[in-house]
Amino acid sequence: MYNPKSRKAEEFIDHQEILDTLAYADAHKTDAAVIDAILEKAKLRKGLSHREASVLLACELEDRNQQIYELAKQIKKDFYGDRIVMFAPLYLSNYCVNGCLYCPYHAKNKHIPRKKLTQDEIRAEVIALQDMGHKRLALETGEDPVNNPIEYVLESIKTIYSIQHKNGAIRRVNVNIAATTVENYRKLKEAGIGTYILFQETYHKESYEHLHPTGPKSNYAYHTEAHDRAMEGGIDDVGLGVLFGLELYRYEFAGLLMHAEHLEAVFGVGPHTISVPRVCPADDIDPDAFDNGISDDIFAKIVACIRVAVPYTGMIISTRESPKVRERVLGLGVSQISGGSRTSVGGYAEEEPEEESSAQFDVSDRRTLDQVVRWLMEMGYVPSFCTACYREGRTGDRFMSLCKAGQIHNCCLPNALMTLKEYMMDYAAPATREVGEKLISAQLDYITNPKVKEIVTERLAWIEQGQRDFRF
Ligand code: SF4
Ligand code: SF4
Repeated sequence: MYNPKSRKAEEFIDHQEILDTLAYADAHKTDAAVIDAILEKAKLRKGLSHREASVLLACELEDRNQQIYELAKQIKKDFYGDRIVMFAPLYLSNYCVNGCLYCPYHAKNKHIPRKKLTQDEIRAEVIALQDMGHKRLALETGEDPVNNPIEYVLESIKTIYSIQHKNGAIRRVNVNIAATTVENYRKLKEAGIGTYILFQETYHKESYEHLHPTGPKSNYAYHTEAHDRAMEGGIDDVGLGVLFGLELYRYEFAGLLMHAEHLEAVFGVGPHTISVPRVCPADDIDPDAFDNGISDDIFAKIVACIRVAVPYTGMIISTRESPKVRERVLGLGVSQISGGSRTSVGGYAEEEPEEESSAQFDVSDRRTLDQVVRWLMEMGYVPSFCTACYREGRTGDRFMSLCKAGQIHNCCLPNALMTLKEYMMDYAAPATREVGEKLISAQLDYITNPKVKEIVTERLAWIEQGQRDFRF
């Protein structure tokens, strides 16, 4: 029944295969020989199968667990260096016809204020985001064919890309909207989106159906096969994710990796990103109502095992997590974080009064983008506002083959430094700038190619003189 090449959700996410995987992992969780063989394979940095990675996740040998963490750290360092890509979510509308039990936007929630941004309001939001320094957005909407039809999303994307305020520009718009048709994905591609992100929430079909009692999202197969349709529609960067806490985490982990294997088997390219949200408090939602919540330790182990299993896939963490947890998982594999986020509809241009909150979830990390940027730099990370690959057409398999050949590395650091320099010039507080300038000159030494280093040094000076938007 299990077939990664099948186009049917229940065959590429085969329930029995997941149960067998978990049984296999349980049988080998203290089996040093098997675990060591998997670790040896992981050191080749070509990834692991869902079965192998599941054994690592289940591993109960403390010294081997330490090796998993060390390897995850090393892979993170080798593939991503010190760079952390920055983004912000932009909620366009919280109208939704679905009945998801874990989300306050579910249709039966009658007390949450419903909002939908007009194009003028989007302009105001985008200017506020540009004034913070953001270059990369993730658009969010509920599913509502009447209030949020695809035309509205397309018009909003056009508006966002058209806004040039001072030196600001949104250079990449990723989209996180409900599963839709190949035709609509094609329209999104034509509108110039970056990654199409859709969280599975849970791969466990029975739980999925319980958690999605009403609305179009209740169709497990239609939802699970959405990334395939997106790829058919020409979107070659797709993002996966599960909402940890809804089902048993080991089940979700295996399902997530099987989904990645399916995309690779059918389209020759795995997911561009994997997101790792955990259920958190929100209006009408009590995380304790879901009994599969995971501890910070397990969360860290999941991140490390994903990093080892799919080294080329970016990993995203949002402001759902506290600064402490974010710090921990940055070292283990997370490559992209949001900063200064508002999870309400229209929270950037004007703060919403708490009692009228339209937020999807409570933000745990409430710091401004500038505070997050400075915090990252003080830990030695390089916050990157780079969007070069997407704008140079390095998406999908072109991105992956460059990435697998280690080529991306040659342009990532230079691009990160130049976009960070722009941030320093245009948006940073004086104290942040002081840290940033030191970091940029120290990081220049990590550019090994002398010609590239020379070009970057020259361009940094041009940025100081007012020029913008250089990239490799
Ligand atoms: S998770 Fe998405 S589809 Fe479900 S209620 Fe929330 S906004 Fe709607
Ligand atoms: S060069 Fe490409 S892979 Fe590297 S940071 Fe920029 S967009 Fe990402």
